[in-house]
Amino acid sequence: MNFLIDLECSDCSKQLPADRLQNLCPACGRPLLARYDTEGAGKALTPGALAMREPTLWRYREMLPVRDESAIVTLSEGGTPLIHARRLGERLGMDGLFIKDESVNPTGSFKARGLAMAVSRALELGAESLAIPSAGNAAGALSAYGAKAGIPVHVFMPRDTPTPFVVECRAHGAAVELVDGLITDCGKLVAARKDAEGWFDVSTLKEPYRVEGKKTMGYELAEQGGWVLPDAILYPAGGGTGLIGMWKAFAEMEALGWIGPERPRMVAVQAAGCQPIVRAWEQNWPEAPQWENARTLASGLRVPSAVGDKLMLAAIRESNGEAVAVPDGDMVRGVREIGAFEGIFASPEGGAVLAGLRKLLALGRIERSNRVVLFNTGSGHKYVDNLGDLR
Ligand SMILES: *Cc1c(COP(=O)(O)O)cnc(C)c1O
Repeated sequence: MNFLIDLECSDCSKQLPADRLQNLCPACGRPLLARYDTEGAGKALTPGALAMREPTLWRYREMLPVRDESAIVTLSEGGTPLIHARRLGERLGMDGLFIKDESVNPTGSFKARGLAMAVSRALELGAESLAIPSAGNAAGALSAYGAKAGIPVHVFMPRDTPTPFVVECRAHGAAVELVDGLITDCGKLVAARKDAEGWFDVSTLKEPYRVEGKKTMGYELAEQGGWVLPDAILYPAGGGTGLIGMWKAFAEMEALGWIGPERPRMVAVQAAGCQPIVRAWEQNWPEAPQWENARTLASGLRVPSAVGDKLMLAAIRESNGEAVAVPDGDMVRGVREIGAFEGIFASPEGGAVLAGLRKLLALGRIERSNRVVLFNTGSGHKYVDNLGDLR
């Protein structure tokens, strides 16, 4: 069914067989990325044939890692709308403003894409239980896909994670542990206990297939745009899987002959209280050291250090992109504006990208004539207790 070849280290280029459970590169500890036979896939699947397929991310299955269709664990993820934000665009003086609304995914966020892929593949390769450190949405998504597959799930979240995220995981039957600390502390706990407990660790980019699920956002953007990509993509970056995944998708689609060499500018938006990638980009550092005292109500952006830092920075730099940080108050204003002008109840991470756009327009770093896609990565519903003056 597919054209997966192997895994390759994103840093030292070590190659590893794809068909066994694998975390980071055993040689250098950096993320592994899947490689495909794009020549074969390009013959098996053409853009024209896509029109006949199901409206989920599985429509791109030749370029996805699951070998056997019967291994797929799905809640119908992907296929989210690309909405022309006319009223919001008018306010900003932009004709070409779009929102990719990921809030309509199963479990209310784009984490569904990555975890549908990771769970399907982990089951296919024989995992018996799964564990994840999460700021909230990833835990909810893993819990749901674990329930669908009938496999035990252990989630580790910071103790101050908003209650709806915790309740959601428990409703899906997951074992929940609340940790005094941040997502990085949760990650350390999973790493320390996974071998003894027999868990497979599905942490962001420490597992090679979540990014394969997230890359389908790039395929969808191209398909929905008639195989023409926008001028800029604004993405709320935590661990960075979506940014890295879309950047990978564009290279794959060029190899498939589906798009040309043009690329959108990749813009990472972070929180003022946790902006390791923005700082590294501004300082022109190759890596992003840990951000101390990370604070933001956008739990998905409270990621003080990311194992995919180099990949994120490379995508931003190679695309002539931007990295910008916004305070929490501006995110809440963004949620209010997207809600009042487009009828979408955005997560604070979605509000953040609108705030980021305003900032970049004011600085002249994005043109009003550009075609710009804002990612609303999740629904606002799980954050209602923390939405400041909207309460
Ligand atoms: C996880 C999350 C993010 C950050 O995504 P990464 O791929 O880790 O950068 C952004 N928004 C929401 C709603 C999230 O749940």
